[in-house]
Amino acid sequence: MSVMDENTTVVIVGSGVAGLTLGNFLLRSGIDCVVLERQSREYVEQRQRAGVIDSRAARMFREWGLADRVLGGVPFEPVLNFRIDGETRPFKYMTDDHGDGRFCPQQVLVRNLIDVFVGDGGDLRFEAEDVELEDITGPRPQVRYRDSGGMTRTITCDFIAGCDGDHGVSRASIPEEELTRHSHEYGYAWLTVLAEAPSNHQSMMAIHGRGFAGQFARGPQASRFYLQCPLDTSVEEWTDDRIWEEIEARFGEPVAVKGRISSKTLVPLRSVVHDPMSHGRLYLLGDAAHIVPPMSA
Ligand SMILES: Cc1cc2nc3c(=O)[nH]c(=O)nc-3n(C[C@H](O)[C@H](O)[C@H](O)COP(=O)(O)OP(=O)(O)OC[C@H]3O[C@@H](n4cnc5c(N)ncnc54)[C@H](O)[C@@H]3O)c2cc1C
Repeated sequence: MSVMDENTTVVIVGSGVAGLTLGNFLLRSGIDCVVLERQSREYVEQRQRAGVIDSRAARMFREWGLADRVLGGVPFEPVLNFRIDGETRPFKYMTDDHGDGRFCPQQVLVRNLIDVFVGDGGDLRFEAEDVELEDITGPRPQVRYRDSGGMTRTITCDFIAGCDGDHGVSRASIPEEELTRHSHEYGYAWLTVLAEAPSNHQSMMAIHGRGFAGQFARGPQASRFYLQCPLDTSVEEWTDDRIWEEIEARFGEPVAVKGRISSKTLVPLRSVVHDPMSHGRLYLLGDAAHIVPPMSA
């Protein structure tokens, strides 16, 4: 096993939306950076999660001249389909702030950000294993990792951007006593369901005595559904039949196509912020610094 030493200005750990966005902004600002990602490019480019890019995020990409190249999907419709106990209630956004937002699957945004970053000469390294951060309070921290060929590499840098999500190595590298975790637990969970079911509407939200339900288009042929449920429920209790029945009851209308359900996950709803979001020369970004309920992260 060989050891290779390199230098750069910023090492970005993680190539999710946070890491790739930062990488593109640094590249445009003429600042050297290296992005290290634990997973393969194929895995990252097809990982399904979010589907909404909120207005501020869309405007941010526009301000950086990236909107045409990274924003996929379709703009928000001006009116939201909204039900209370099965009855349609008119719901028009009161400000034009929503006009810039888009329905765009997260993997489309990630794929576009990767294409732009790599196409513009960015240094993005997939399958970087065993990432370790060293000397983060010193003037020149180091990031050590094993590349896909098994070679150990050390990159010395000025700053580290920890963009590796809620379970990454970056925040874990900060001594526990240096960080305060502020959290708010909502007291219920959302069952998130991905199904091969074209949406009746671009988006739909329903408040019902049985709990909240939502449906958001994930491209022309698929939808993400959310069902509010108790914290102590388990995924096994939610058979496909029960899910469709519950969605139809809360929406007060039939679901047009009940296609194959490809994933079911329970997300306890919580908001978490870590303070401070930096330690020495390590800065936390995205889910590594804060998580919010699914939507509008
Ligand atoms: C079901 C669901 C629906 C959602 N809907 C929305 C929505 O509609 N709108 C919205 O804005 N947000 C939504 N969110 C939240 C959004 O998905 C996250 O906030 C977003 O993915 C955070 O991006 P990130 O780049 O910080 O982290 P991530 O996307 O988690 O990326 C972190 C990256 O770091 C890599 N990594 C981890 N550990 C290491 C390591 N040790 N070394 C190297 N790399 C590492 C990971 O492989 C990953 O690629 C949703 C989330 C879920 C789960």
